[in-house]
Amino acid sequence: MPDRASRATDLDQLDEWVSTCRACPRLVDWREQVARDKRAAFRDWTYWGRPVPGFGPADAEIAIVGLAPAAHGANRTGRMFTGDRSGDVLYAALHAVGLASQPTSTHAEDGLSLRHTRITAPVKCAPPANKPTPQERDNCRPWLARELALLRPTLRALVVLGGFGWQATLPVLSDACWSVPSPRPKFGHGAHVELPATDGGAPLHMLGCFHVSQQNTFTGRLTPAMLEKVLEQAKAFAIST
Ligand code: SF4
Repeated sequence: MPDRASRATDLDQLDEWVSTCRACPRLVDWREQVARDKRAAFRDWTYWGRPVPGFGPADAEIAIVGLAPAAHGANRTGRMFTGDRSGDVLYAALHAVGLASQPTSTHAEDGLSLRHTRITAPVKCAPPANKPTPQERDNCRPWLARELALLRPTLRALVVLGGFGWQATLPVLSDACWSVPSPRPKFGHGAHVELPATDGGAPLHMLGCFHVSQQNTFTGRLTPAMLEKVLEQAKAFAIST
């Protein structure tokens, strides 16, 4: 079904199509099982239990890329980074730097909107243990490639959360319209790479940031100030020029 991705003419169509994708049998089973079993604290919820489309305006200048939806976060609420601790940290920082209308993101109808920014992932379904297989990552690649191509007229900065997302996103950028150097640039918090466009347009500024997982935020490896600094850099590259 990811073959359809290249035929999507706008992001609304892409979002609708991706949410029906069943190309990865293991992930389809997992996302639907989690949606049936539920976590006790969310037993009154009807889980989304499907691929999670990107969130944010179609003319975004900044894209934020994680790895994959969380089982009881976005797989429950249907919106990226919504309803879990990682999202609490991310949206608070986005609000602090003026890219989100409110600091919290609890459910898809909570009134939150993003400014200049779209949040997405290279794997659109929640994987067991947060670990997609290389095959699943490759299966999902056309969806993100098309999403970035549709954002291409305005997109100037890409913030990648975590090394796994970085590795998964680099080949997608080559599929879209940016030139990725060889050897591939390494992930690090604060890493910055300027990728020239292959279509003669503006380059893309790729920024690395530690993932907003509890593992990083509870231990202080990633602080709100560190995250806000990367987001401010993305703003400076994407919006002030
Ligand atoms: S991970 Fe991507 S390709 Fe696989 S089923 Fe989900 S949306 Fe489809």
